[in-house]
This record gives sequence, C-alpha cells and structure tokens, in this order.
Amino acid sequence: MAKLDIIVAGNPVLRLKAKEVERIDKKTVRLLNDMAETMYAADGVGLAAPQVGVSRRIVVIDVGEGLIELINPVITKREGSVVGGEGCLSVPNFEGEVERAEYIECEFFDRKGKRMKLASDGILAIAVQHELDHLDGILFIDKATVLTPKETVPVGIE
Ligand SMILES: [Zn+2]
Repeated sequence: MAKLDIIVAGNPVLRLKAKEVERIDKKTVRLLNDMAETMYAADGVGLAAPQVGVSRRIVVIDVGEGLIELINPVITKREGSVVGGEGCLSVPNFEGEVERAEYIECEFFDRKGKRMKLASDGILAIAVQHELDHLDGILFIDKATVLTPKETVPVGIE
C-alpha cells in the first residue's frame, strides 16, 4: 500500500464529473487500498478518488464503524433533513454547516464486483453524501450555509 497525495480546492480535478469504473481490476483494488491508507493517515472519515487526483467513481469511508468501499455508488433514496458541521481534507482551512438528507439508501459495487446496498443515517449518511458530491465535482463549501475559517496552529520555525 502507498499513501497518496491529497489535492486541495483550486485543482481542476476536484471539479470534474468522475467517470464510472467499468472494470474492477487489480488497479482498482490497489487504489482502494491506497485510498484507505491515505484517509487513515490524514485522520479523515472519508475520501473520494478525485481527492487523490483520480477522476473515477470510487469512495472509501470509515466513521468509526469499519471501512466501507463504494464503487460506482448511487443514492437511491433520501429522507428528512439535518444540518451538521463538515470539513474536508481537500478544503483544509474551512469548516462549515451543510444541510443533508437525514436518511439515505445507496447502491454500489464492492471490490469483488458484487452489487451492494447500504442504508444509513447519522454521521455515516452525511459522510456518504459528502463523498458522493466529490464524484460530481461538488465541494461542501458550495453548499455550506455557514463557513468558518479553521484555527490553524502556527508551525514553529527551527
Ligand atoms: Zn471532502
């Protein structure tokens, strides 16, 4: 596995509509492994392939309930609405409040090419919606009703 570089807002790849994965092969599996390693190393709860410069519909998520890998995910049901705080590894200097569906259902393929279904609410539902937005070139700052600069810790010069 290898840790990948996370690109930040301003990089045009983040604004592309990512392409579907047509064939799940060794490259796809390697990318999934590398994305998970990158997400954990960055203390993130989710990472979409465009965030590592790969414009493909692939997402990894772990909100503390175990790793979930989504290939070609599609949200098939949305219910309710909830406003919660969000941040993004590709927008390191801001956090914001975003309105999302409270409950969602999502269909996707796993790394073995098996069609799967996920029903979620709470932080997992928010993470899925946030990461799937990345696949359509949408960042949370586009949707945030409140945007706050993050306090940055000054780095000491030695
Ligand atoms: Zn993000």
